[in-house]
Amino acid sequence: MTETFDIAIVGAGITGCAIARQLARYDLSICVVEAANDIALGASKANGGLVHAGYDPAPGTVKAQVNARGCELYGTWSRELGFLFCRTGSMVLGFNDEDRAHLEKLRQNGLANGVPELSIVGPDRIHELEPRASADATCALWCPSTGFVDPFEVAIDALENAVANGVTFMRSASVEAIEVTDSGEDARFTLATPAGNVRCRYLINTAGNGAADISHMAGAEEFHMVWRQGNIVVLDKEPRTLMPLYPVPTPVSKGVIVTGTVHGNTVITATAAVREPGDTQTYARANTQTYASDVNALLSGARKLVPDLDTRRVVRAFAGGRPVIQGTNDFFIGQSAVVPGLFQAAGIQSPGVASAPAIAERMELVMREAGVELHERADWNPIRRAPDDFDRAPLARKEELIESDPAWGQIVCRCETVPEAEIVAAIRRQPGAVSVEGVKRRCRAGMGRCQSGFCQSRVVTILARELGCDPSEVLLEDAGSWLVEGPLKGVR
Ligand SMILES: Cc1cc2nc3c(=O)[nH]c(=O)nc-3n(C[C@H](O)[C@H](O)[C@H](O)COP(=O)(O)OP(=O)(O)OC[C@H]3O[C@@H](n4cnc5c(N)ncnc54)[C@H](O)[C@@H]3O)c2cc1C
Repeated sequence: MTETFDIAIVGAGITGCAIARQLARYDLSICVVEAANDIALGASKANGGLVHAGYDPAPGTVKAQVNARGCELYGTWSRELGFLFCRTGSMVLGFNDEDRAHLEKLRQNGLANGVPELSIVGPDRIHELEPRASADATCALWCPSTGFVDPFEVAIDALENAVANGVTFMRSASVEAIEVTDSGEDARFTLATPAGNVRCRYLINTAGNGAADISHMAGAEEFHMVWRQGNIVVLDKEPRTLMPLYPVPTPVSKGVIVTGTVHGNTVITATAAVREPGDTQTYARANTQTYASDVNALLSGARKLVPDLDTRRVVRAFAGGRPVIQGTNDFFIGQSAVVPGLFQAAGIQSPGVASAPAIAERMELVMREAGVELHERADWNPIRRAPDDFDRAPLARKEELIESDPAWGQIVCRCETVPEAEIVAAIRRQPGAVSVEGVKRRCRAGMGRCQSGFCQSRVVTILARELGCDPSEVLLEDAGSWLVEGPLKGVR
């Protein structure tokens, strides 16, 4: 089976989903082709979720341009797509004169990159802004525009909005070969995937750690990826959300950062070590192993910034790989110089989350300049109606929901207060969840303190019922990750 589109986007991470949403406003047929069985299973599911403000990248780089602009766009994107975004501001803490000199350099970088309202503050202001910041900090770079999001929520919501505007999503469709014809035909590219072939006039490569393979398959730029792996730990919810606190950065990383999350947890993110990819089944899978040495480095780094942090409250440790192009620390966003019609957003390492809306905007500009005709559709709708979040809903809305369907009163995940009806809605959304982890990313069932110890078997049962399969066929995540071998207790 072969389907033909104007544009195929390879990779449904935050970059591909943001670009799909940006281009969905135009009169074009678009398909997002993803190797995994769901959205955001690559670097986009394993990161700190920080919307860095943009004072870090060297002025003049592509990163510098899209980071500050991406941070600015997050306000609009969160309103239109209905995801949570907290713009709390952040501080980079300094502990001596050498650090202060570095903070001043960061401030200058930030000013050059267009980051608003940066200032160096002293101990009194530090403690006014974040009372839990270390009392040993003598100075800090205060940046009011920093924020944080749930990164997979952004990717999922952007693609939902794109799909509502006519974009097609192809799951479990790893691009294994690309044929390029020079005949000037309408569909120059043919992508071979196990889910069928896709023909398109324009190809956009947003394949994260697989971007070099896609470029190679199309006969375009040869670049090599370096897997800069990072470990992250998540702590249980705190009564008050912490503002992001950064140390003075190193040449390759922003260092160990402590931050609150949109759901009230605390996250310590991230180590940075060049490691070989792990035992990969799909291109999404960089080495996602966690290392004791990294976790220890995170905990001790975090205590330096927030001495009263109770690091016994860790509920989860995980890892992801930043897609870095060997030989450069910058993003590559542009048309291939070798294969016209192939557009690449490659090397989208950190700050790829913070930059995503601006990468999408830039990709649109690059395509327009390359002569791609973009005519706005009259019926394009930028607004996504966010599904009900029971835990956050006011009491009156909770009562209304339970009145409408008693399944809203059946709490499945007790840690995050997620009822059965919300899980069903997560499976029925377009594109909906097809695995236990897919449910978790959409409505947080299993995301809490017990990490699904109580609710996993019930989520499996609901998934089996909704997908019309046997519980033994339900997946934890991607292909091959079955959970159930025998009958479930209490389920016929
Ligand atoms: C530990 C860590 C912490 C980070 N913290 C932050 C942070 O706080 N803030 C921030 O801004 N950034 C952060 N980042 C960076 C951020 O996560 C990435 O920049 C971003 O997620 C990259 O998104 P992407 O869509 O380009 O790539 P991915 O999310 O990796 O998506 C690529 C997609 O392409 C698919 N694919 C690959 N090959 C193929 C193929 N052949 N066929 C079909 N599909 C294919 C993959 O399955 C995958 O879904 C962090 C990264 C890491 C690892």
